[in-house]
Amino acid sequence: MSDRTHARACPERTCVGCRERAVKTDLLRAVVVEGECVPDPRGTLPGRGAYVHPALVCLDLAVRRRAFPRALRAPGQLDTKALRLYVERQTVAEQATP
Ligand SMILES: [Zn+2]
Repeated sequence: MSDRTHARACPERTCVGCRERAVKTDLLRAVVVEGECVPDPRGTLPGRGAYVHPALVCLDLAVRRRAFPRALRAPGQLDTKALRLYVERQTVAEQATP
């Protein structure tokens, strides 16, 4: 038996868009695969990851600030099309659900 009743089991990460801290599971992980920034919703891809809210506002902010290349240590520009498409789909799916 343990007397540690308030052990926090929720790791937090900072969103590269709005820079707010959030529970890891509320954020979308993005990794670089062959020079492209791709979503890693299950967090299973190897390598360095960047975390962003799965929202277009945060994604756009991150892209405008070049936060992805910085967070992912990628030289130059990163293609974020796949990531954007993923977030767009998520947003549409959410809006379609009553
Ligand atoms: Zn955010």
